[in-house]
Amino acid sequence: MVGLYRPCHDWALPVTKPMSLAEVKRTERCAVEPTPRWTARDRRMGSPLAFLERARRLKADSAQAVVVLHAFAGARRVGDIEERMIHWASIMNVVLLIESADMAFNAEWDLGNPHTIKILMDMVLMGLLDIVLGGAPCATWSRLRFLPGGPRPLRFRGALAWGRLDLTPNELEAVKEANLLMVNFIGLCEALGLRGGMFVFEHPEDPELEPYPSVFDTDTFKNMMVRVGGILDKIHQCMYGGPAKKGTGIAHNCHLLSKGALTCTGGHAHGPSSGLNDQGIWHSRRLQTYPPPMCDWLSWGAMSWARLKMDFGPSNTGWGFAPRRAGWGWSSSNSE
Ligand SMILES: [Zn+2]
Repeated sequence: MVGLYRPCHDWALPVTKPMSLAEVKRTERCAVEPTPRWTARDRRMGSPLAFLERARRLKADSAQAVVVLHAFAGARRVGDIEERMIHWASIMNVVLLIESADMAFNAEWDLGNPHTIKILMDMVLMGLLDIVLGGAPCATWSRLRFLPGGPRPLRFRGALAWGRLDLTPNELEAVKEANLLMVNFIGLCEALGLRGGMFVFEHPEDPELEPYPSVFDTDTFKNMMVRVGGILDKIHQCMYGGPAKKGTGIAHNCHLLSKGALTCTGGHAHGPSSGLNDQGIWHSRRLQTYPPPMCDWLSWGAMSWARLKMDFGPSNTGWGFAPRRAGWGWSSSNSE
């Protein structure tokens, strides 16, 4: 369809149903072909400390290695961020270490845990982390909560964006956890952005209407964006092969990405994004994962950014370097 995001290569078909464990294991073996240019990666999700150690070893070996964290990554699947990132890294000759982390599979990756976020902040300060992508959980923010028949809203636009005042103990627990993950992730993006790294922060688009809450409307987020010089693009996931329109906000600090930020041009069908399907499963469930072309776009942007930084550095995130100036080095042969 005209106007849809089109990559210059083939990718695996979009996955529309959750994959079984066996399927995930199979794709992990075939989707990520280790080559001599890449670091060998433990296919099981390691701990944050193991990630730090791998990053440290890699950066010691290669001045141009790029370390990427995909936070809140969910289950590995065909065409996910990690797969597309490795694909583009090989095309752009980038030495890449990527971790697709999710606390659903390893509790050590709980970004609400002060030890975990401390390790990641230390990695930023040590120049061991270059790119972070992710979208903190949005269930407590969702505007679907304002539809009849579902769970009630837990937040409202404005002063109550971080939680309504009459939350039940269970709701309070959920909102506190979601707030902690959100604020910590915003903090991680800011720390990285301020040190010359790249971040991508994904969340459902701001309805820009009372009474719908949105993290994009909070002072915490807006002030962070001012400090890092961030860009907020809006996309519709239908343009990337998504089953519904699903307006999504992509906050980032990579100008290259804005070129691929597409909004619906019409001419195609949109599936439902709310309510239950025939099997009694919420339609919103299948929208939780990014469609593969969206992963491809974000990965292309990230690896292009890395390639440009390498070629035209310097960077203070550890891997960037300035080309050596002619005549800088001394040797007996060029002294006059
Ligand atoms: Zn559309």
